[in-house]
Amino acid sequence: MNHKKLRIAVDMDEVLADPLSKFIALYNRDYNVPLDLQISPGNEIHHHVPEHAKDKWYEYINEPGFFRDLPVIDKSQEVMKALNNHYDIYIVSAALEFRNSLIDKYDWLAEHFPFIPWTNIVFCGDKIVDTDILIDDRIKNFSNFKGRKLLFTSPHNLLITHYERVNNWTEVADKLL
Ligand SMILES: [Mg+2]
Repeated sequence: MNHKKLRIAVDMDEVLADPLSKFIALYNRDYNVPLDLQISPGNEIHHHVPEHAKDKWYEYINEPGFFRDLPVIDKSQEVMKALNNHYDIYIVSAALEFRNSLIDKYDWLAEHFPFIPWTNIVFCGDKIVDTDILIDDRIKNFSNFKGRKLLFTSPHNLLITHYERVNNWTEVADKLL
């Protein structure tokens, strides 16, 4: 019997890639924000930096290269590889918000997730996707999504309670493998 594989859409930032540690490193370099900064539940990075520098993150994120060397979120590679044997995996990133991110994100994926072919990469604006599952840290991306929503934990979403949550990639594996 030939079962059709379920499709999973996976977000990049704060799910596969870690922009927060890069923001902290840049704010540390320019404004002495501590490298061990802990972002409080419900907060964004700009809540923890000097008032006059709170918009600086927008400059950082628009610099070519910002997305190219982001750390990989722990265990995402091994779990994605395992999921890839059972599901059709699509990377769905609202990359168009930052025009300089496109090539960096493509190259980053090719380096760290070489088993995801280009046919399965969706760089978009609004995430109008028709998959069975969506793994994302931003609930705005769930509002028109009809499938199973998995909220991937990031400091900014820690106070949100009304979605199925995964705290890390081990928990994704526990639920989906
Ligand atoms: Mg994200």
